[in-house]
Amino acid sequence: MVVSLRTMSLQDRRRFIKLGSAGIAALATGCADATTNAATEPGTVQAKGPLVLSTWKHGMAANAKAWEVLRNGGDVLDAVEQGVAVVESDLSNRSVGLGGMPDRDGHVTLDACIQDHDGRAGAVAFVQRFEHPISLARAVMERTPHVILAGAGAERWALENGFTPRDVEIPEVRAAWLEWLKKAEYKPVVNIENHDTIGMVAMDPDGRLAGSCTTSGLAFKIHGRVGDSPIIGAGLFVDGEAGAACATGVGELVIRTAGSHSVVELMRQGMDPTEACKEAVRRIIRQNKDMDGKQVGFLAIRADGAFGGWSVYDGFDFALRSTDREELVPAGHDRKWEG
Ligand code: ASP
Repeated sequence: MVVSLRTMSLQDRRRFIKLGSAGIAALATGCADATTNAATEPGTVQAKGPLVLSTWKHGMAANAKAWEVLRNGGDVLDAVEQGVAVVESDLSNRSVGLGGMPDRDGHVTLDACIQDHDGRAGAVAFVQRFEHPISLARAVMERTPHVILAGAGAERWALENGFTPRDVEIPEVRAAWLEWLKKAEYKPVVNIENHDTIGMVAMDPDGRLAGSCTTSGLAFKIHGRVGDSPIIGAGLFVDGEAGAACATGVGELVIRTAGSHSVVELMRQGMDPTEACKEAVRRIIRQNKDMDGKQVGFLAIRADGAFGGWSVYDGFDFALRSTDREELVPAGHDRKWEG
């Protein structure tokens, strides 16, 4: 059984966090241990929509909401906004929304973006005290001439535009931060406990695409750090002519390779979505000598409805909803976690 990293046993998490010798050897030789599964084999083609994909186990609930919107004839942009909003509202989720883990100064700071079929986009970065950064992102897209608003300016704009801030105090989160403060060792390394964004890509029955991405980012990050999730082309990219892709994992690695943009451009050239995600993962592996414990995963829908996903390590699942499927799919991956 494969589950979200957050719900793994401690032993499994340790296995994931620590790269085993086989993986290191593969890294040294450049020979990835490519493993895959039937669900994400190249050629997973669906003739157009409707279709919803989202990252990790929490994507199941998000997909259910997005599907409901599509089933009721709603817009695909509403579907991807309302879908991920379900996870943003879940205060038990430690990687998305106000229930997320804080930065090193104890503040929960949120990143999100949204993009439609025609490439219109909006994003907010480094915002605090708003339950639905994805709705702020959409409002930036629809009500301003800009794409990204960040920090205090974004918060002020949100207040001025009718969004209500919310203060949330979660004892468990505060305790985790106080525990971290004892050593206050900051390592810009993702492990299991501190990542799990939700990214969603969807297609309506007419083949129109949209995507969304929202996160509290890396736990104990430097105050002010912005990840890939609000960066169009990194955490998300949608171009109705070619396809849509989103990312999860170590944001810095995704930004440096313009990951989601790469996936979409590869699909534009005709590549299968799974192969495109795999190539984006391999660009990251080629670019980074030290991939120890650094997970990255991509999901993609091509303009013809073909879809797929791929990740550096095993353990990355995506939630799939189509007319005849509602399930959690283990993505294909380059490496087995043997830590
Ligand atoms: N990509 C997110 C970030 O770097 C984290 C994650 O997906 O787990 O902020």
